[in-house]
Amino acid sequence: MSHVTGLACVRCGQRYEERAVRYTCPACGIEGILDVLYDYEAIGQKLTKARLRGDPERTHWRYLPLLPLADRRHLQPLTVGWTPIYEAPRLAGRLGVGQLLVKDEGRNPTASFKDRASSVGVARALEQGESNITCASTGNAASSLAGFAAAAGMPATIFVPETAPEGKVAQLLIFGATVVLVEGGYAKAFDLCQQAVAEWGWYNRSCAVNPYLVEGKKTAGLELCEQLAWDPPDRVFVSVGDGCTIAGIWKGISEWHRLGLIDRRPRLVGVQAEGCQPIKRAWERRGDLAPEPERTLADSIAVSHPRNWIKARRAVEESDGCFVAVSDAEILAAMRELAAATGVFTEPAGAAAYGGLVRLSREGALGRDERILVMATGNGLKDVAGALKAVGAPLRVPADLEALRRALAAQGGSWT
Ligand SMILES: *Cc1c(COP(=O)(O)O)cnc(C)c1O
Ligand SMILES: [Zn+2]
Repeated sequence: MSHVTGLACVRCGQRYEERAVRYTCPACGIEGILDVLYDYEAIGQKLTKARLRGDPERTHWRYLPLLPLADRRHLQPLTVGWTPIYEAPRLAGRLGVGQLLVKDEGRNPTASFKDRASSVGVARALEQGESNITCASTGNAASSLAGFAAAAGMPATIFVPETAPEGKVAQLLIFGATVVLVEGGYAKAFDLCQQAVAEWGWYNRSCAVNPYLVEGKKTAGLELCEQLAWDPPDRVFVSVGDGCTIAGIWKGISEWHRLGLIDRRPRLVGVQAEGCQPIKRAWERRGDLAPEPERTLADSIAVSHPRNWIKARRAVEESDGCFVAVSDAEILAAMRELAAATGVFTEPAGAAAYGGLVRLSREGALGRDERILVMATGNGLKDVAGALKAVGAPLRVPADLEALRRALAAQGGSWT
Protein backbone atom coordinates (compact mmCIF):
# COMPACT_ATOMS: atom_id res chain seq x y z
CA MET A 1 0.00 0.00 0.00
CA SER A 2 1.15 3.54 -0.74
CA HIS A 3 0.97 6.25 1.93
CA VAL A 4 -1.28 8.47 -0.17
CA THR A 5 -4.24 9.77 1.85
CA GLY A 6 -5.96 11.77 -0.88
CA LEU A 7 -5.71 14.68 -3.29
CA ALA A 8 -6.28 18.43 -2.80
CA CYS A 9 -7.03 21.04 -5.47
CA VAL A 10 -4.39 23.82 -5.53
CA ARG A 11 -7.06 26.31 -6.66
CA CYS A 12 -10.13 25.69 -4.48
CA GLY A 13 -8.66 23.46 -1.76
CA GLN A 14 -11.30 20.73 -2.21
CA ARG A 15 -10.10 17.28 -1.10
CA TYR A 16 -10.73 14.08 -2.99
CA GLU A 17 -10.26 10.37 -2.47
CA GLU A 18 -7.49 8.97 -4.64
CA ARG A 19 -9.95 6.85 -6.58
CA ALA A 20 -12.50 9.64 -7.08
CA VAL A 21 -10.57 11.65 -9.69
CA ARG A 22 -8.25 10.80 -12.52
CA TYR A 23 -6.50 14.09 -13.34
CA THR A 24 -7.71 17.57 -12.32
CA CYS A 25 -10.32 18.96 -9.91
CA PRO A 26 -13.83 18.34 -11.27
CA ALA A 27 -14.99 21.70 -9.88
CA CYS A 28 -12.15 23.80 -11.32
CA GLY A 29 -11.51 21.92 -14.56
CA ILE A 30 -8.08 22.00 -16.15
CA GLU A 31 -6.87 24.85 -13.89
CA GLY A 32 -7.58 22.71 -10.84
CA ILE A 33 -4.25 20.88 -10.57
CA LEU A 34 -4.27 18.39 -7.71
CA ASP A 35 -1.65 17.92 -5.05
CA VAL A 36 -1.02 14.44 -3.61
CA LEU A 37 -1.40 14.17 0.19
CA TYR A 38 0.41 11.61 2.36
CA ASP A 39 0.42 10.08 5.81
CA TYR A 40 3.70 11.65 6.92
CA GLU A 41 3.61 9.99 10.30
CA ALA A 42 3.84 6.56 8.73
CA ILE A 43 6.46 7.74 6.24
CA GLY A 44 8.56 9.24 9.04
CA GLN A 45 8.92 5.77 10.55
CA LYS A 46 10.42 4.44 7.33
CA LEU A 47 12.52 7.32 6.03
CA THR A 48 14.95 8.14 8.79
CA LYS A 49 18.53 9.29 8.30
CA ALA A 50 19.81 6.04 9.75
CA ARG A 51 17.67 3.89 7.47
CA LEU A 52 18.64 5.92 4.43
CA ARG A 53 22.33 5.66 5.33
CA GLY A 54 21.99 1.89 5.32
CA ASP A 55 20.06 1.72 2.04
CA PRO A 56 22.33 0.50 -0.80
CA GLU A 57 19.85 1.60 -3.52
CA ARG A 58 21.44 4.37 -5.57
CA THR A 59 18.34 5.48 -7.50
CA HIS A 60 15.35 7.66 -6.76
CA TRP A 61 13.44 4.55 -5.63
CA ARG A 62 15.17 4.92 -2.27
CA TYR A 63 12.37 7.41 -1.59
CA LEU A 64 9.59 4.97 -2.51
CA PRO A 65 7.60 5.52 0.74
CA LEU A 66 7.16 9.15 -0.42
CA LEU A 67 5.88 8.14 -3.86
CA PRO A 68 2.31 7.31 -4.94
CA LEU A 69 3.05 3.67 -5.75
CA ALA A 70 1.71 0.59 -3.99
CA ASP A 71 4.87 -1.53 -4.23
CA ARG A 72 7.91 -2.32 -6.38
CA ARG A 73 6.12 -4.63 -8.77
CA HIS A 74 5.86 -2.23 -11.71
CA LEU A 75 9.18 -0.39 -11.43
CA GLN A 76 11.23 -0.54 -14.61
CA PRO A 77 14.92 -1.47 -14.45
CA LEU A 78 16.19 1.79 -16.05
CA THR A 79 18.10 3.58 -13.30
CA VAL A 80 16.92 7.09 -12.47
CA GLY A 81 18.33 9.65 -10.09
CA TRP A 82 21.22 9.77 -7.65
CA THR A 83 22.78 12.02 -10.29
CA PRO A 84 26.10 13.61 -9.39
CA ILE A 85 26.52 17.03 -7.81
CA TYR A 86 29.76 18.67 -8.89
CA GLU A 87 31.50 21.57 -7.25
CA ALA A 88 32.57 24.36 -9.62
CA PRO A 89 35.11 26.44 -7.69
CA ARG A 90 36.40 28.47 -10.65
CA LEU A 91 32.91 29.60 -11.62
CA ALA A 92 32.09 30.33 -7.98
CA GLY A 93 35.16 32.60 -7.85
CA ARG A 94 34.17 34.36 -11.06
CA LEU A 95 30.62 34.94 -9.82
CA GLY A 96 31.67 35.93 -6.31
CA VAL A 97 29.64 33.32 -4.44
CA GLY A 98 30.76 31.04 -1.62
CA GLN A 99 30.15 27.73 -3.36
CA LEU A 100 28.66 26.65 -6.68
CA LEU A 101 27.21 23.17 -7.15
CA VAL A 102 25.92 21.73 -10.42
CA LYS A 103 23.58 18.75 -10.38
CA ASP A 104 23.87 16.89 -13.69
CA GLU A 105 20.41 15.58 -14.52
CA GLY A 106 21.57 14.77 -18.04
CA ARG A 107 22.90 11.54 -16.48
CA ASN A 108 19.42 10.02 -16.31
CA PRO A 109 18.58 7.14 -18.71
CA THR A 110 16.99 9.26 -21.45
CA ALA A 111 19.27 12.17 -20.56
CA SER A 112 16.92 14.55 -18.76
CA PHE A 113 15.29 15.33 -15.43
CA LYS A 114 11.97 14.12 -16.88
CA ASP A 115 12.90 10.48 -16.20
CA ARG A 116 12.09 11.09 -12.54
CA ALA A 117 8.47 11.72 -13.54
CA SER A 118 8.09 9.20 -16.37
CA SER A 119 9.33 6.34 -14.23
CA VAL A 120 6.58 7.05 -11.71
CA GLY A 121 3.98 7.71 -14.43
CA VAL A 122 4.57 4.40 -16.17
CA ALA A 123 4.58 2.43 -12.90
CA ARG A 124 1.35 4.13 -11.91
CA ALA A 125 -0.21 3.37 -15.32
CA LEU A 126 0.72 -0.31 -14.95
CA GLU A 127 -0.70 -0.42 -11.40
CA GLN A 128 -3.96 0.97 -12.67
CA GLY A 129 -4.08 -1.56 -15.51
CA GLU A 130 -3.82 1.05 -18.26
CA SER A 131 -2.94 -0.25 -21.70
CA ASN A 132 -1.96 2.90 -23.60
CA ILE A 133 -0.05 5.94 -22.44
CA THR A 134 0.33 9.38 -23.96
CA CYS A 135 1.65 12.87 -23.31
CA ALA A 136 2.18 16.24 -24.87
CA SER A 137 5.60 17.66 -24.32
CA THR A 138 8.13 20.19 -25.51
CA GLY A 139 10.38 17.16 -26.12
CA ASN A 140 12.08 15.74 -23.03
CA ALA A 141 8.98 14.48 -21.24
CA ALA A 142 8.10 12.83 -24.51
CA SER A 143 11.41 11.09 -25.09
CA SER A 144 11.49 10.07 -21.46
CA LEU A 145 7.99 8.62 -21.52
CA ALA A 146 8.81 6.79 -24.74
CA GLY A 147 11.86 5.23 -23.08
CA PHE A 148 9.95 4.02 -20.04
CA ALA A 149 7.02 2.82 -22.15
CA ALA A 150 9.55 0.85 -24.22
CA ALA A 151 10.99 -0.71 -21.07
CA ALA A 152 7.49 -1.63 -19.90
CA GLY A 153 6.32 -2.86 -23.30
CA MET A 154 3.45 -0.40 -23.33
CA PRO A 155 2.31 1.43 -26.46
CA ALA A 156 2.87 5.20 -26.30
CA THR A 157 1.49 7.98 -28.45
CA ILE A 158 3.42 11.23 -28.16
CA PHE A 159 2.51 14.77 -29.17
CA VAL A 160 5.33 17.27 -29.65
CA PRO A 161 5.58 20.61 -31.44
CA GLU A 162 6.83 20.27 -35.02
CA THR A 163 9.82 22.41 -33.98
CA ALA A 164 11.09 19.87 -31.39
CA PRO A 165 14.88 19.33 -31.74
CA GLU A 166 15.88 16.42 -33.95
CA GLY A 167 17.73 14.59 -31.17
CA LYS A 168 14.58 14.36 -29.09
CA VAL A 169 12.45 13.25 -32.04
CA ALA A 170 15.09 10.61 -32.86
CA GLN A 171 14.79 9.31 -29.28
CA LEU A 172 11.01 9.04 -29.62
CA LEU A 173 11.20 7.11 -32.86
CA ILE A 174 13.96 4.77 -31.75
CA PHE A 175 12.00 3.90 -28.59
CA GLY A 176 9.15 2.84 -30.88
CA ALA A 177 6.54 5.41 -29.88
CA THR A 178 3.88 6.68 -32.24
CA VAL A 179 5.10 10.23 -32.77
CA VAL A 180 2.79 13.08 -33.71
CA LEU A 181 4.46 16.36 -34.69
CA VAL A 182 1.83 19.03 -34.17
CA GLU A 183 1.80 22.26 -36.13
CA GLY A 184 1.61 25.47 -34.08
CA GLY A 185 3.74 24.95 -30.97
CA TYR A 186 3.48 23.18 -27.63
CA ALA A 187 0.13 24.73 -26.65
CA LYS A 188 -1.47 23.16 -29.73
CA ALA A 189 0.22 19.81 -29.06
CA PHE A 190 -1.13 19.91 -25.50
CA ASP A 191 -4.70 20.61 -26.67
CA LEU A 192 -4.64 17.86 -29.28
CA CYS A 193 -3.33 15.38 -26.71
CA GLN A 194 -6.15 16.34 -24.32
CA GLN A 195 -8.68 15.69 -27.06
CA ALA A 196 -7.15 12.33 -27.92
CA VAL A 197 -7.25 11.33 -24.24
CA ALA A 198 -10.93 12.28 -24.04
CA GLU A 199 -11.63 10.34 -27.24
CA TRP A 200 -9.65 7.13 -26.64
CA GLY A 201 -9.15 7.00 -22.88
CA TRP A 202 -5.35 6.65 -22.96
CA TYR A 203 -3.45 7.30 -19.74
CA ASN A 204 -2.24 10.91 -19.77
CA ARG A 205 1.31 11.38 -18.49
CA SER A 206 1.28 15.14 -19.09
CA CYS A 207 2.82 16.47 -15.91
CA ALA A 208 0.63 19.51 -16.14
CA VAL A 209 -2.57 17.56 -15.47
CA ASN A 210 -1.50 14.26 -13.94
CA PRO A 211 -0.97 14.86 -10.20
CA TYR A 212 1.33 11.86 -9.75
CA LEU A 213 4.06 13.02 -12.08
CA VAL A 214 5.22 15.94 -9.94
CA GLU A 215 5.75 13.33 -7.22
CA GLY A 216 8.50 11.78 -9.32
CA LYS A 217 10.06 15.20 -9.85
CA LYS A 218 10.23 15.88 -6.15
CA THR A 219 12.84 13.14 -5.76
CA ALA A 220 15.41 15.67 -7.04
CA GLY A 221 14.66 17.89 -4.05
CA LEU A 222 14.81 14.92 -1.67
CA GLU A 223 18.00 13.70 -3.21
CA LEU A 224 19.98 16.92 -3.24
CA CYS A 225 19.41 17.37 0.50
CA GLU A 226 20.56 13.87 1.29
CA GLN A 227 23.57 14.10 -1.05
CA LEU A 228 24.65 17.31 0.66
CA ALA A 229 24.57 15.56 4.05
CA TRP A 230 21.30 17.27 5.07
CA ASP A 231 22.87 20.70 4.73
CA PRO A 232 20.93 22.22 1.81
CA PRO A 233 22.36 25.11 -0.24
CA ASP A 234 21.14 28.69 0.25
CA ARG A 235 19.63 28.90 -3.22
CA VAL A 236 18.60 26.50 -5.95
CA PHE A 237 18.31 27.70 -9.57
CA VAL A 238 15.82 25.83 -11.77
CA SER A 239 14.55 26.65 -15.26
CA VAL A 240 10.79 26.89 -15.55
CA GLY A 241 8.44 25.97 -18.43
CA ASP A 242 5.19 24.42 -17.23
CA GLY A 243 6.32 24.85 -13.63
CA CYS A 244 6.18 21.19 -12.55
CA THR A 245 9.92 20.81 -12.05
CA ILE A 246 10.39 23.68 -9.62
CA ALA A 247 7.14 22.79 -7.83
CA GLY A 248 8.30 19.20 -7.49
CA ILE A 249 11.71 20.14 -6.14
CA TRP A 250 10.06 22.40 -3.57
CA LYS A 251 7.67 19.68 -2.50
CA GLY A 252 10.53 17.25 -1.91
CA ILE A 253 12.55 19.76 0.09
CA SER A 254 9.48 20.73 2.12
CA GLU A 255 8.73 17.10 2.94
CA TRP A 256 12.16 16.62 4.48
CA HIS A 257 11.59 19.80 6.45
CA ARG A 258 8.26 18.54 7.68
CA LEU A 259 9.77 15.18 8.60
CA GLY A 260 12.55 16.98 10.49
CA LEU A 261 15.46 15.73 8.36
CA ILE A 262 16.54 19.28 7.43
CA ASP A 263 16.10 22.36 9.57
CA ARG A 264 16.05 25.03 6.87
CA ARG A 265 14.90 25.24 3.25
CA PRO A 266 16.77 26.91 0.37
CA ARG A 267 15.34 29.81 -1.63
CA LEU A 268 14.27 28.85 -5.12
CA VAL A 269 15.03 30.92 -8.20
CA GLY A 270 12.80 30.11 -11.17
CA VAL A 271 14.45 31.00 -14.47
CA GLN A 272 12.41 31.66 -17.60
CA ALA A 273 13.44 32.76 -21.08
CA GLU A 274 12.87 36.43 -21.93
CA GLY A 275 11.04 35.37 -25.07
CA CYS A 276 8.48 33.36 -23.07
CA GLN A 277 8.11 34.33 -19.41
CA PRO A 278 4.41 34.12 -18.47
CA ILE A 279 5.01 32.74 -14.96
CA LYS A 280 7.61 35.37 -14.10
CA ARG A 281 5.23 38.09 -15.28
CA ALA A 282 2.26 36.68 -13.32
CA TRP A 283 4.50 36.57 -10.23
CA GLU A 284 5.63 40.18 -10.77
CA ARG A 285 2.17 41.59 -11.08
CA ARG A 286 0.71 39.25 -8.44
CA GLY A 287 -2.04 38.49 -10.89
CA ASP A 288 -3.33 35.81 -13.18
CA LEU A 289 -1.39 34.18 -15.93
CA ALA A 290 -1.47 35.63 -19.44
CA PRO A 291 -0.23 33.26 -22.16
CA GLU A 292 2.72 34.47 -24.26
CA PRO A 293 4.22 33.43 -27.60
CA GLU A 294 7.02 30.82 -27.51
CA ARG A 295 10.00 32.88 -28.65
CA THR A 296 13.17 31.24 -27.36
CA LEU A 297 15.68 28.65 -28.50
CA ALA A 298 15.35 26.96 -25.08
CA ASP A 299 12.64 24.66 -26.42
CA SER A 300 12.12 22.80 -23.13
CA ILE A 301 10.92 25.95 -21.39
CA ALA A 302 9.07 27.46 -24.38
CA VAL A 303 5.63 27.07 -22.80
CA SER A 304 3.16 29.78 -23.75
CA HIS A 305 0.40 28.58 -21.44
CA PRO A 306 1.98 26.89 -18.41
CA ARG A 307 -0.42 24.58 -16.59
CA ASN A 308 1.36 24.32 -13.30
CA TRP A 309 2.01 28.00 -12.76
CA ILE A 310 0.10 28.19 -9.48
CA LYS A 311 2.24 25.48 -7.90
CA ALA A 312 5.41 27.03 -9.35
CA ARG A 313 4.63 30.50 -8.05
CA ARG A 314 3.66 29.13 -4.66
CA ALA A 315 6.99 27.27 -4.46
CA VAL A 316 9.00 30.40 -5.20
CA GLU A 317 6.97 32.57 -2.82
CA GLU A 318 7.02 30.10 0.05
CA SER A 319 10.77 29.78 -0.30
CA ASP A 320 11.25 33.58 -0.28
CA GLY A 321 12.83 33.21 -3.72
CA CYS A 322 12.26 34.98 -7.02
CA PHE A 323 11.84 34.56 -10.76
CA VAL A 324 14.30 35.90 -13.30
CA ALA A 325 14.29 35.90 -17.11
CA VAL A 326 17.32 35.55 -19.39
CA SER A 327 17.76 36.26 -23.09
CA ASP A 328 18.71 33.66 -25.67
CA ALA A 329 22.15 35.31 -25.91
CA GLU A 330 22.60 34.85 -22.16
CA ILE A 331 21.46 31.23 -22.44
CA LEU A 332 24.02 30.51 -25.17
CA ALA A 333 26.79 32.18 -23.18
CA ALA A 334 25.74 30.21 -20.10
CA MET A 335 25.82 26.95 -22.02
CA ARG A 336 29.35 27.57 -23.24
CA GLU A 337 30.66 28.90 -19.94
CA LEU A 338 29.21 26.11 -17.82
CA ALA A 339 30.41 23.38 -20.17
CA ALA A 340 33.90 24.83 -20.59
CA ALA A 341 34.38 25.34 -16.84
CA THR A 342 32.88 22.11 -15.51
CA GLY A 343 32.66 19.51 -18.28
CA VAL A 344 28.88 19.42 -17.91
CA PHE A 345 27.23 19.89 -21.32
CA THR A 346 23.61 20.86 -20.79
CA GLU A 347 20.91 21.84 -23.26
CA PRO A 348 19.66 25.45 -23.53
CA ALA A 349 16.92 25.03 -20.90
CA GLY A 350 19.44 23.53 -18.48
CA ALA A 351 21.90 26.34 -19.15
CA ALA A 352 19.16 28.92 -18.58
CA ALA A 353 19.29 28.10 -14.86
CA TYR A 354 22.99 28.95 -14.80
CA GLY A 355 22.26 32.05 -16.91
CA GLY A 356 19.83 33.17 -14.21
CA LEU A 357 22.61 32.83 -11.65
CA VAL A 358 24.97 34.92 -13.78
CA ARG A 359 22.27 37.57 -14.10
CA LEU A 360 21.56 37.77 -10.36
CA SER A 361 25.27 37.83 -9.59
CA ARG A 362 25.77 40.73 -12.01
CA GLU A 363 22.88 42.59 -10.40
CA GLY A 364 24.53 42.17 -7.00
CA ALA A 365 21.56 40.22 -5.70
CA LEU A 366 23.57 37.41 -4.07
CA GLY A 367 25.48 37.27 -0.80
CA ARG A 368 29.25 36.66 -1.03
CA ASP A 369 29.20 33.49 1.01
CA GLU A 370 26.05 31.96 -0.47
CA ARG A 371 26.04 28.30 -1.41
CA ILE A 372 24.29 27.89 -4.75
CA LEU A 373 23.03 24.82 -6.58
CA VAL A 374 22.16 24.88 -10.28
CA MET A 375 20.01 22.15 -11.80
CA ALA A 376 21.41 21.20 -15.20
CA THR A 377 18.14 19.61 -16.30
CA GLY A 378 19.05 17.95 -19.59
CA ASN A 379 22.00 16.76 -21.66
CA GLY A 380 23.33 19.06 -24.38
CA LEU A 381 23.54 16.32 -27.03
CA LYS A 382 19.75 16.39 -27.24
CA ASP A 383 19.98 19.67 -29.08
CA VAL A 384 23.21 19.83 -31.06
CA ALA A 385 21.90 22.62 -33.28
CA GLY A 386 21.33 24.76 -30.18
CA ALA A 387 24.83 24.05 -28.92
CA LEU A 388 26.43 24.94 -32.25
CA LYS A 389 24.86 28.40 -31.99
CA ALA A 390 26.77 28.90 -28.75
CA VAL A 391 30.23 28.23 -30.15
CA GLY A 392 32.57 29.26 -32.93
CA ALA A 393 33.74 27.09 -35.83
CA PRO A 394 36.46 24.47 -35.37
CA LEU A 395 39.87 24.92 -37.03
CA ARG A 396 40.10 23.31 -40.46
CA VAL A 397 43.54 22.36 -41.76
CA PRO A 398 45.18 19.98 -44.20
CA ALA A 399 46.98 17.09 -42.49
CA ASP A 400 50.22 19.08 -42.21
CA LEU A 401 52.07 20.22 -39.05
CA GLU A 402 53.09 23.61 -40.46
CA ALA A 403 49.52 24.37 -41.48
CA LEU A 404 48.45 23.37 -37.97
CA ARG A 405 51.09 25.68 -36.44
CA ARG A 406 49.81 28.61 -38.53
CA ALA A 407 46.19 27.88 -37.67
CA LEU A 408 46.96 27.67 -33.94
CA ALA A 409 49.00 30.88 -34.07
CA ALA A 410 46.21 32.67 -35.91
CA GLN A 411 43.84 31.56 -33.18
CA GLY A 412 46.22 33.07 -30.62
CA GLY A 413 46.55 30.21 -28.16
CA SER A 414 49.20 30.85 -25.48
CA TRP A 415 50.72 27.41 -26.12
CA THR A 416 51.84 28.07 -29.73
C1 LIG B 1 10.85 20.18 -18.85
C2 LIG B 1 12.16 20.83 -18.67
C3 LIG B 1 12.33 21.96 -17.88
C4 LIG B 1 11.21 22.69 -17.18
O1 LIG B 1 10.32 21.89 -16.48
P1 LIG B 1 8.80 22.34 -16.28
O2 LIG B 1 8.22 21.31 -15.44
O3 LIG B 1 8.19 22.39 -17.65
O4 LIG B 1 8.83 23.69 -15.65
C5 LIG B 1 13.61 22.46 -17.75
N1 LIG B 1 14.66 21.91 -18.38
C6 LIG B 1 14.53 20.83 -19.15
C7 LIG B 1 15.74 20.26 -19.80
C8 LIG B 1 13.28 20.25 -19.32
O5 LIG B 1 13.17 19.19 -20.12
ZN1 LIG C 1 -10.71 22.88 -7.43
